[in-house]
Amino acid sequence: MATGKINVSVENIFPLIKKFLYSDHEIFLRELISNATDATLKLKHLTSIGEAKVEYGNPIIEVKIDKKGKKLHIIDQGIGMTEEEVRKYINEVAFSGAEEFLDKYKDAGKDAGIIGHFGLGFYSSFMVAQKVEILTKSYKDEPAAHWICDGTPEFTLKEGKKKDRGTEIILHINDDDKEFLEEHRIRELLTKYNKFMPIPIKFGTRTETLPKPEGAKEEDPAPTKEVDNIINNPNPAWTKKPADLQDDDYKNFYRELYPMQFEEPLFHIHLNVDYPFNLTGILYFPKLTNDLNIQKDRIQLYQNQVFVTDNVEGIVPEFLTMLRGVIDSPDIPLNVSRSYLQADGAVKKISSYITRKVADKLASLFKDNREDFEAKWNDIKIVIEYGMLSEEKFFEKAEAFALYPTVDGKYYTFDELKEKISGQQTDKDDNLVVLYASDKEEQHSYIDAAKEKGYEVLLLDSPIVGHLLQKLETSKEKLSFARVDADHLDNLIKKEDTKISKLSEEEKEKLKTQVEEVLGDKGYTVQLEAMDSQAAPFIITEPEFMRRMKE
Ligand code: ADP
Ligand code: MG
Repeated sequence: MATGKINVSVENIFPLIKKFLYSDHEIFLRELISNATDATLKLKHLTSIGEAKVEYGNPIIEVKIDKKGKKLHIIDQGIGMTEEEVRKYINEVAFSGAEEFLDKYKDAGKDAGIIGHFGLGFYSSFMVAQKVEILTKSYKDEPAAHWICDGTPEFTLKEGKKKDRGTEIILHINDDDKEFLEEHRIRELLTKYNKFMPIPIKFGTRTETLPKPEGAKEEDPAPTKEVDNIINNPNPAWTKKPADLQDDDYKNFYRELYPMQFEEPLFHIHLNVDYPFNLTGILYFPKLTNDLNIQKDRIQLYQNQVFVTDNVEGIVPEFLTMLRGVIDSPDIPLNVSRSYLQADGAVKKISSYITRKVADKLASLFKDNREDFEAKWNDIKIVIEYGMLSEEKFFEKAEAFALYPTVDGKYYTFDELKEKISGQQTDKDDNLVVLYASDKEEQHSYIDAAKEKGYEVLLLDSPIVGHLLQKLETSKEKLSFARVDADHLDNLIKKEDTKISKLSEEEKEKLKTQVEEVLGDKGYTVQLEAMDSQAAPFIITEPEFMRRMKE
């Protein structure tokens, strides 16, 4: 028997990193821009504490395509690296300088919003480039460095010629990855991943129209000038304090997030917590129309303003995935499986925090402006009812704002409804019986009959209502729901009915037999008592349990 140590050499591991580090090749750009952002934010932090004695200024990050040279450049004006730092941070694969920085500057560094984590992000550039160059000059008074690597573990590192502070990464793009030399493809990536990153990102220039000088003639063309084309909004609404934002700011941000969405959101919820986890964001209740964007425009997950995914399954409770907006949290573990996410303690807390915030917001909207809330009910009920079914905590909270509309357009909370019908609509076992219709047109004769007897009839027409009623029946005592066309109507304790039928007993019997023949033996009951109602000559009922079985 022998024991030994498996020798993992860089030669073995390098092709693996290149191939499997990220399944999605396109994320190399996100990683490099994250590094450029980190480098800039580090400089900002170091100048603010007086450790870097340079002018911070208004640094930007630039992305440039050199189509002829088959190169892509990512240029920043951040802290840069000395030759020694390149050796340390770049050559030692998986040595994360971001983590070291965070360790050194602790929470101050965290507040600075540093993105890096794993110390592998830089190497993702080899997924699309056969050769990578780093030209860098540190904010410290030291010579520039020039690093060149062609994707093997060999590299050259020499003194560089770079004059100004910062780092330029040059990717020599593979022939197979020529798409990343196309302007539209890069713009697409920048919009997807970097739209809200904290440092301005320049991609080309654009022509800006200036105001006409005074005294200019009507036909004179307005003067123009070329300006940097900045593709991102470095200060998106969710990073601001709710107190600093107006309703319009939220609406504008919604449009910024979903440029193809023309419908205004119904309302928003600003999330902001820093203990026991960090999370900010804005969620919107959309008007759920049947448009095609419903699948596309989803909640987006960010980490320190870097887009991560729009699949928030497991992080946001399922019933809220119908909402839109953003969630930004450095505390959500990435690059892990969904099943792990669901079991993760921090993620569970995040999910229940979001549920609570949404419930609180709904409660306050209801309290502050009931009329408006009622007007929106039809658009939001599906989310609320689904939440009541799937999350016990939400069910409890929804007691305060879940509404039960009547066929006459009134809206009751459950407690109000109960008070209204207590003593009016009980059966012989003293159960409260709530009558409802699911289709006003189809069931109109039953509705009229019930109303004539002085009963309230709810209009519950969402697709999951059957489940919701069951849930209410099991969680409340002595309560049952019956659709107006169920056979309950005449078992209810009701006011005296004084109307007299226009038909003789004989005619009634004949009619009853005829109708029953037509119906066959399907478990329906024909009731002629209802002929007293002006609305219908007779009614056909079916036991509530039979109907639910068929649903
Ligand atoms: P991480 O960002 O997770 O630390 P990376 O592989 O992306 O890991 O980068 C490794 C390290 O290289 C960074 O932590 C940083 O110290 C250094 N680095 C990378 N890009 C730059 C840059 N543009 N400017 C300054 N330093 C950089
Ligand atoms: Mg990084």
